[in-house]
Amino acid sequence: MTDKLMSIQNWLNEQQLDVAYFSDFHSIDYLTGFNSDPIERVLALFVFPEDEPFIFAPALEVEAVKNSGWQYPVYGYQDQENPWNLISEHLHTRTKHTEKWAVEKDQLTLNRASFIQTAVPEAKFIGNLSPLMTEMHLIKTPDEIVKLHKAGLDADRAFEFGFAALQAGVSELQVMAKLEYDLKSAGVAGMSFETLVQFGAHAAEPHGDTSNNTLKSGDLALFDLGTIYDGYVSDATRTVAFQSASDHQRDVYNVVLEAQLTAQNAAKPGMTAGELDGIARDVITKAGYSDYFVHRLGHGIGSSVHESIQIAQGNDLILQPGMSFSIEPGIYIPGDLGIRIEDSVIMTETGVDSYTHSSKELRIID
Ligand code: MN
Ligand code: MN
Repeated sequence: MTDKLMSIQNWLNEQQLDVAYFSDFHSIDYLTGFNSDPIERVLALFVFPEDEPFIFAPALEVEAVKNSGWQYPVYGYQDQENPWNLISEHLHTRTKHTEKWAVEKDQLTLNRASFIQTAVPEAKFIGNLSPLMTEMHLIKTPDEIVKLHKAGLDADRAFEFGFAALQAGVSELQVMAKLEYDLKSAGVAGMSFETLVQFGAHAAEPHGDTSNNTLKSGDLALFDLGTIYDGYVSDATRTVAFQSASDHQRDVYNVVLEAQLTAQNAAKPGMTAGELDGIARDVITKAGYSDYFVHRLGHGIGSSVHESIQIAQGNDLILQPGMSFSIEPGIYIPGDLGIRIEDSVIMTETGVDSYTHSSKELRIID
């Protein structure tokens, strides 16, 4: 049994619970190594204090579960079958104790909870697995750190493909498509979120989209992207200038760069997340742009692109070795420009180690 599954068993014993039901495919991936989004079908992992765990999966996923290295039973169901009745049968075959359940309360829908309640009438949803999963995700294992580093290297490659696709008149969507085409042609399986490409003033919307907006000489081009390696993700942003950069663009860029580098160099274990945010925010505030830095400095990263860590003002979370998060200050001036510089980093005993590496000096792309 893996350490992760054993820690779930130990927790069930401590809490005196009978059944842990995992319904979030990210959690199932984290605990078992089987990574698949079942969309509307039912994918479940059941763990018990003593008895052998099992996975319950759509029939079309059963072979993939077996091939993922999962060493315990996997039970399938066909689309015409009622999955909840089958789950009930497997549960009652596996264990005598099916009353006291722990579920992922952040994730399990009321609808699905009611299906379980009908199929397993004695089930009482007492425990909450969501905080436990959040806590387990906080500190990365050496194996996870290796995967994060690999995901970072692929993000570095993605930027080069994206910069090479810049030319006058090209649209943001065309550059995004070319970047992803080239990256996938080079063997990279997937992006960790929808790639963002924004030119000129459009980049002043940090949660905007990639659009049909076209590139002009003298525009800044913002790329926010990430890749997945064996279930682990990267997240990075670079902003480059197309053909030329004005003094104003350079000035703002250098403020963002100084904020990013100052925070990245200052980050140490024992510091709070709020302190780290403040280090970057102070640089931007002193330069007079505090009103234009409209988001937190960073967020946790691991098997999903937004994990629980918030590098944000007022957060007293102590940064510890093994934590993985982004450092991504930005300045967004409506109608003018948007600049963000983001690296994904891992906290070590001495400071942070960035696993995205593309140069952060302002690049002028011809
Ligand atoms: Mn990002
Ligand atoms: Mn990010």
